[in-house]
Amino acid sequence: MIGRRVVAQAQNALKVQARNSSSGLNFALSPEQEELRTTVRKFVQEEVIPVAGHYDKTMEYPWEVVKKLHTMGLLNTEIPAAYGGLELDMVSNCIIAEELGYGCTGIATAAVANGLAEAPLIIAANDDVKKRFLGRMADAPIMAAYAVTEPIAGSDVAGIKTKCEKKGDEYVINGSKMWITNGGVADWFFVLARSDPDPKVSAGKAFTAFAVDANTPGIHVGKKEINMGQRCSDTRGITFEDVRVPAANMVGAHGEGFKVAMKTFDKTRPLVAAQATGLLARCLDVATKYSLERKAFGTEIANHQAVQFILADMAMNLEMCKLMTYKSALEVELGRPGSYFASVAKCFSSDMVNQAATNCVQVFGGAGFNTEYPAEKLMRDAKIFQIYEGTSQVQRMVIARQLLARVKQNGCY
Ligand SMILES: Cc1cc2nc3c(=O)[nH]c(=O)nc-3n(C[C@H](O)[C@H](O)[C@H](O)COP(=O)(O)OP(=O)(O)OC[C@H]3O[C@@H](n4cnc5c(N)ncnc54)[C@H](O)[C@@H]3O)c2cc1C
Repeated sequence: MIGRRVVAQAQNALKVQARNSSSGLNFALSPEQEELRTTVRKFVQEEVIPVAGHYDKTMEYPWEVVKKLHTMGLLNTEIPAAYGGLELDMVSNCIIAEELGYGCTGIATAAVANGLAEAPLIIAANDDVKKRFLGRMADAPIMAAYAVTEPIAGSDVAGIKTKCEKKGDEYVINGSKMWITNGGVADWFFVLARSDPDPKVSAGKAFTAFAVDANTPGIHVGKKEINMGQRCSDTRGITFEDVRVPAANMVGAHGEGFKVAMKTFDKTRPLVAAQATGLLARCLDVATKYSLERKAFGTEIANHQAVQFILADMAMNLEMCKLMTYKSALEVELGRPGSYFASVAKCFSSDMVNQAATNCVQVFGGAGFNTEYPAEKLMRDAKIFQIYEGTSQVQRMVIARQLLARVKQNGCY
């Protein structure tokens, strides 16, 4: 329970920090956040790193780790206090995601995906939906899933075909979702469906979102997908066949679902960036340690300048990832519209962790290509960061759209 105490103390730490900063800039974490980092780091060393290889090989869902995270108070930390959660600030949530990402991004994704399902409810659901769906998360280590992507559309969310029709005080949902993290273990889903069949109606008015109990008749969960990396994370297709959902389960107003689903990413992309940053730090540590042990041409490879430059690039990019990740978290915490910084952080960290993971394999040479050494798992795990929660191309579209609008309006960025 030490984690629960520490994370509770970390609440409001940001505001205190902002008041104490005399220079206007303060990159230091509060003592509570430092303690939180130490707690999670210890947990990761003792409970995540030793089992990460096992879960990668077996592809088993990491239930034992998830249960321990829940006991420590390190799962679902963003849920508001009014619904039994810790209501932790975004910076603290990023600390948890970064440290878990250092240990194993497969396990981290399994845990952090709960936040992706919970965020739209926190943003837009009424009190009753929050009580019923968020309230249950505090009591037990149960999982949730964000079900938006479909076989036919991922980047183009407005192109999804799952539909919902209002019948009395219920909606009937039909359609298929794809690549849903936690799909096979979820207790409930956040679901986006088209409520207006008229293709001329804009996305902002054509979709409605729901919280849906996973045991509702008509929900069929597909097989666990076998992915390149993060293999213990549970990714599935979910089919909805005449699934009757009470209208009372709507998340936000009828027709507002698309906006709710998109706003969610402002809160969750910093957490994805944090996981990628954690993985980058792991690549740097693993590659640097190996370079100090492995000899070539009569000396440790760390003494070869070409190897040093690879490590220096990783170190520079790690520092930049940390800055952007925590800046994006702070923007959200301070209530500023966050999509620009969230996309900058998510895109940069995702691209840089892929560069670092490839170079980590390079530093290991032949051993980097082998499953007995850590580098190849890190490289397999890294790739997904450029794909889920919006591809790197989609992030650049978000960034460019806002950049162009600002320059048109103000004449500069
Ligand atoms: C392991 C995993 C877990 C996931 N978890 C979830 C989840 O929990 N919930 C959920 O809803 N979804 C989830 N997804 C889905 C994920 O968000 C999508 O895969 C992603 O958004 C990309 O969509 P897509 O696969 O349909 O690719 P597409 O949209 O078909 O894109 C294919 C390629 O084209 C590029 N592209 C597309 N449009 C443009 C454009 N206009 N300009 C430039 N390039 C473009 C893309 O960047 C990409 O490189 C997950 C996916 C994976 C693989």
